[in-house]
Amino acid sequence: MHLEEMKKEIENLVITKGFYNKLEDIPKKLLFAFIELGEASDAWKKGLPQEKIAEELIDVVFYILDTSRLACPDMNMDEVFKKKLEKNFSRPYQYGEGHRHK
Ligand SMILES: [Mg+2]
Repeated sequence: MHLEEMKKEIENLVITKGFYNKLEDIPKKLLFAFIELGEASDAWKKGLPQEKIAEELIDVVFYILDTSRLACPDMNMDEVFKKKLEKNFSRPYQYGEGHRHK
């Protein structure tokens, strides 16, 4: 499944379950993504099974894609992913981690 398909599945879930679905809800969705990151970190720190860590990371992906659906609806996230990956590959070795050389 690609990101655009995932976005549609998440939209279906949001509508079916009556979750927040307005532009004004975007900050909440971003906050929930952070909360899920915290849950993933907590699961890892507690040495929980990989399945639990992965589930929390997928929760992060859910909120991020759901936010993209509302915040930048005209963007194709599969295309954005490809472009950004190419951009990052074009950067120097260990770019953005200059502190490692100090
Ligand atoms: Mg969770």
